Amino acid sequence: MTTQDRHSYEKTIYALASGRLPSAIAIVRVSGSKASAALESLCGRLPAPRAATLATLKTTDGNAIDESVVLWFPRPHSSTGEDVAEFQVHGGRAVISALFDALSRIDGLRPAEPGEFTRRAFENGKLDLTEAEGLDDLIHADTDQQRRQALRQLKGLLGDKAESWRKQIIGASALIEAGIDFSDEGDVPQELQAHALRKVAALKNEIDKALGASAQSERLREGLIVAIAGPPNAGKSTLLNRLARREVAIVSPHAGTTRDIIEVHLDLDGYPVTLLDTAGVRDTEDPVEQEGVRRAQQRARDADLVLWLVDASRASEKPISKRENHAPVWLVRNKLDLIQGPHASSEKHVPETSRFYISAENGEGIPELLAALMAYAQAYFGAGESALVSRERHRALLRESLDALARAERMSGQGDELIAEQLRIAAHALGRLTGRVDVEDLLDVIFREFCIGK
Ligand code: GDP
Repeated sequence: MTTQDRHSYEKTIYALASGRLPSAIAIVRVSGSKASAALESLCGRLPAPRAATLATLKTTDGNAIDESVVLWFPRPHSSTGEDVAEFQVHGGRAVISALFDALSRIDGLRPAEPGEFTRRAFENGKLDLTEAEGLDDLIHADTDQQRRQALRQLKGLLGDKAESWRKQIIGASALIEAGIDFSDEGDVPQELQAHALRKVAALKNEIDKALGASAQSERLREGLIVAIAGPPNAGKSTLLNRLARREVAIVSPHAGTTRDIIEVHLDLDGYPVTLLDTAGVRDTEDPVEQEGVRRAQQRARDADLVLWLVDASRASEKPISKRENHAPVWLVRNKLDLIQGPHASSEKHVPETSRFYISAENGEGIPELLAALMAYAQAYFGAGESALVSRERHRALLRESLDALARAERMSGQGDELIAEQLRIAAHALGRLTGRVDVEDLLDVIFREFCIGK
């Protein structure tokens, strides 16, 4: 930290903590050593700690700004660990701008950077890094299952686990180091080493298990990606609109109008599902359209599930084109309303698994398709229900730790120093997970993603 950084860090910060204006109530938070000065300046006195107090906020020249409920949290019993003042005012733009103007005139106060409140909480030991990430996830959770996962993390489930693993590794390491000290006493080091490595093996298992369900829980943050693909005019946009129950994609009778990808986020029984409408996959000379097609194919390749839509009224339509896709593909025959005759109707009554007959136009077959999607999401995410690992960052560090433990294990019978070094690497990776060690460079990356006022 440079002197200038330290100086700006020591400043008291303020920001709007509540949502978009205008609103019934808006909350402005102030954190830092000048929070009490802000309260005294605006309310004329310091309210009792932790008690909602009604006050008329006034500028220094005596003009009333608003009637407000104010709260005073002296450190360390506050969310950031610093002195915190909270102003609950009426959520009008002019109210907030007058309040901000008054705050900016107080010496030592400045507007907060994104994530700065949480960063201060972390630096004052109120949260570990995984909890701070959980807080961010909780704020951005759209569905019930996302909320549950974020709350588990905010409550420190992953952080506590990682910290306990780190301590156990340090314990095993201490045994080995003891062996190093006794190295001229024959069998003692061997026994100590074997004992330490038994601990390592048990830990390895635990970490491996935690990593097991990480793919699902990472997806739970982002949503399961379902691509709707198929030839032009099959009815992809129409289907997307129907599933989303609102007009999002352009529906047009001319081929190739969906030039780009349109995403719709669905909440299926608490599970987040992102539906992609891919551009009409077809050969085209138009460069704009070619780009749309390329991006569509790429996104569809990354999808967790593909709904391959075909026009059931066109007998010649090839079911699924050759595509290198690892995701399961469901064949969805659309425009069922256009098919007549006994053959078609008998066919539509024998739906096989992952084969659907629908009319995006009149809604026939849509409830069945949605039910199948919901079941798919449930089965997909169900496996990771109690998962702890929800970010790539977590997964990478746990893997780093695991790899070092595995290397230590393979060195059984070799020099204690070599094993101890691997255990140090393993413990260090876990320390970085919770932010106990070596994190300065990481902090900027993590907190930058936060909103101002958090
Ligand atoms: P996309 O190119 O695959 O996105 O296809 P669109 O959704 O733009 O649909 C192409 C045309 O097919 C439009 O005129 C739609 O109204 C029509 N269409 C879509 N679904 C159905 C359906 O279930 N039945 C009928 N009769 N027409 C449909």
